[in-house]
Amino acid sequence: MGEHLQASLTGGALSKDAIDANFEDLHPPLNAQQVNSWANRCLFCYDAPCITACPTAIDIPRFIRQIATDNITGAAKTILSANIMGGTCARACPTEILCEQQCVLNTGEHEPIEIGALQRYAVDYLMDTTNTHPFVRGPKTGKTIAVIGAGPAGLACAHELARLGHDVVVFEAKAKAGGLNEYGLAAYKMAGDYAAKETKFITDIGGITVKAGKSLGDDFSLSDLRDKYDAVFIGIGLTKMRKLGIAGEALAGVSNALDFIETIRQTSDLSTLDPGRDIVVIGGGNTAIDAAVQAKRLGAKNVTLAYRRGLAQMGETKWEQDLAATNGVMIKHWANPVEIIGENSVKSVRFEQINLQDGKLCGTGDYFHICADRVYKALGQTLVTDELTALKVENGKLKVGSDGLTSVAGIYAGGDCIAPGEDLTVQAVADGKTAAIAIDKMLAIDKMLES
Ligand SMILES: Cc1cc2nc3c(=O)[nH]c(=O)nc-3n(C[C@H](O)[C@H](O)[C@H](O)COP(=O)(O)OP(=O)(O)OC[C@H]3O[C@@H](n4cnc5c(N)ncnc54)[C@H](O)[C@@H]3O)c2cc1C
Repeated sequence: MGEHLQASLTGGALSKDAIDANFEDLHPPLNAQQVNSWANRCLFCYDAPCITACPTAIDIPRFIRQIATDNITGAAKTILSANIMGGTCARACPTEILCEQQCVLNTGEHEPIEIGALQRYAVDYLMDTTNTHPFVRGPKTGKTIAVIGAGPAGLACAHELARLGHDVVVFEAKAKAGGLNEYGLAAYKMAGDYAAKETKFITDIGGITVKAGKSLGDDFSLSDLRDKYDAVFIGIGLTKMRKLGIAGEALAGVSNALDFIETIRQTSDLSTLDPGRDIVVIGGGNTAIDAAVQAKRLGAKNVTLAYRRGLAQMGETKWEQDLAATNGVMIKHWANPVEIIGENSVKSVRFEQINLQDGKLCGTGDYFHICADRVYKALGQTLVTDELTALKVENGKLKVGSDGLTSVAGIYAGGDCIAPGEDLTVQAVADGKTAAIAIDKMLAIDKMLES
């Protein structure tokens, strides 16, 4: 992890080759020998805990057995029939807290099976070797469903609906479909053009029309869609960025970490980006880690991640924390930003040292500065509810039942925009599929009642 990092001593001086190397696949694909070795180590547990640990309940022992018996296409179909985004999830899932954590080999002296890497091998094989879509659509139902948002939740919902014979129109605010797979996941997790390739693969089943550049609120309302379509699925994620609310936030050089990551994901030649020299990332979750590591890999000299709580409260996994450390990111805990200093552009950030008293964060009255020519805010995102006033909201997110139904009949939701929201691609995929199955059932009941 991070062992091949090409570091810049002065900041901004990395060659194109060095930057390209820094943004290669973090986990390169396994070769055939490694695949064989891992697949044959699986115990194929009858009551496999890895399956229950996966929000999409992929039959992991089955697909590994198919790989072990050289039925790679069959393995891919097992994966994709449970999770149509099995390719992205193989790259981006924190398997160390999901399936691989539950692998029974973990309890002995062994490492867990590399489930994610085996999954990637099978899905990549199928996508690279087959031109025909592995799933056929069911008989046409004559129903059309509107999906708002083409992220993992929306695309998974659209695919399942199409598979069940419905037509789907997906409305996406951005220019490209894929959601955070396309714009947010770290570039070294989604190397190449994988998000776009997978989106094409998903929609190639047929019956799905993606209308990009069409936004709820600007181009249509929820009631427009409810009137025109047989059902609606909302998968709009969380797009409103939290603010710091301190002086200097508007200075040049201060921006949202997610915008910085999006720029990286949408730039084909990363050596054209100016990485800056001294970077301060404010926040303690995965977005903060991803922004900090990518800044370092672009060639920034000093990258400090400042978080107002301690190590135990950080949102990311131990693996992500180690990734930051091995990439040379400094993590500064108990640091509360109080002012961003500069004239036209940022020069430093002033922090107050914080401590915990009776469970409450309290300022200590001790202040310090960290030099910065770039500040990335990674304070989390919230749901834009302006157009969703007809729906019940719980803790800032849409309230839904276990089948994804919102408080209004015919309107379903899933992914990051629903409560409680797991902030995981695989959970968004699971939500989208669950809602699609519920929509299908609801439409079937309506049809029975009509006849
Ligand atoms: C920086 C970052 C890194 C992450 N890394 C990982 C990771 O490594 N592994 C992991 O499992 N999870 C990761 N996550 C979480 C994961 O990306 C999300 O949980 C997942 O993308 C949620 O899917 P979604 O479909 O609900 O939302 P999104 O992916 O956000 O998709 C929502 C879609 O709706 C569109 N939309 C929004 N508003 C409107 C509107 N008004 N009208 C029309 N369309 C609209 C958006 O443009 C977007 O395309 C990460 C998240 C972030 C922010």
